[in-house]
Amino acid sequence: MPRNLVVMILDSCRYDSFIRAKAKNFRRLGEVEQRWSYASWTAPSHYSYLMGLVPHRSPQHVYASEVYKKDFSSWVDRLDIPDLGFNKFIPQLSLAKVLSDHGYICRAKVSMPVLNGFTLLNKFFADYKLMSNHNDFAGMVKEIEFTGDKPYFYFLNLGETHYPYMLDGSKMPHISGVHGAVKQLAASGDGGGRIAKEDEFFDSDALRELHEQQIRCVDYVDEVFGTLIDKAPPDTYFVVMADHGEAFGEGGYFGHGPVMHEKVFEVPFVEGLRPS
Ligand SMILES: [Zn+2]
Repeated sequence: MPRNLVVMILDSCRYDSFIRAKAKNFRRLGEVEQRWSYASWTAPSHYSYLMGLVPHRSPQHVYASEVYKKDFSSWVDRLDIPDLGFNKFIPQLSLAKVLSDHGYICRAKVSMPVLNGFTLLNKFFADYKLMSNHNDFAGMVKEIEFTGDKPYFYFLNLGETHYPYMLDGSKMPHISGVHGAVKQLAASGDGGGRIAKEDEFFDSDALRELHEQQIRCVDYVDEVFGTLIDKAPPDTYFVVMADHGEAFGEGGYFGHGPVMHEKVFEVPFVEGLRPS
């Protein structure tokens, strides 16, 4: 039977947040790499991942379009299915379609409403669910099963690392600075099109605290990931990454999306077979 596949996207998780977290379970998969997202926000980034792409390495001195083809062909090694080359992705360009054709049961569980099942993204999945709570990776893990004689493909979008970083109803400590930062953002809209200087636009202490909170969220998710490792059969392949990063005041930006800044495209990437 082919390997199971679990693709996990830690929404908005910065590369440096991942690196600064202990993330002891994620690190059991392999070396955490610095990579680059194809998009600066959730929907187009997930679309590119659902095509079968992963964050790129931004290689130099190569013809860029050749990089895609190689990326698609990486599934041959990941899943140990020799005929899973680029040509198998044509014409639908959908990982779920290719894996369904290989007998996989394809299930998606997403946290961000922008990825809901009425969008184009759910195509070719046997089951596609928007979780009722943004921060419910633990609930996803409970629902995940590997029963029967068919391999599974789970596509998971996690909201815990997305702003406001599990501040509501979670076991995380309340961070008072968040609301200060948001208030300052609102107050800076003076309607005159004035571009605020970084210092007056942001409360840098609050942004630093938000960054720290994202790091804590990585470790929370990592802890839950430990239970998923325990639950998964030995022949399960994991791909863990972010859809984009987040600006915490760099260049005068907070957030992601309509932001052209390196920190919004820089993402963590780690993959590997289920650690024993
Ligand atoms: Zn996102």
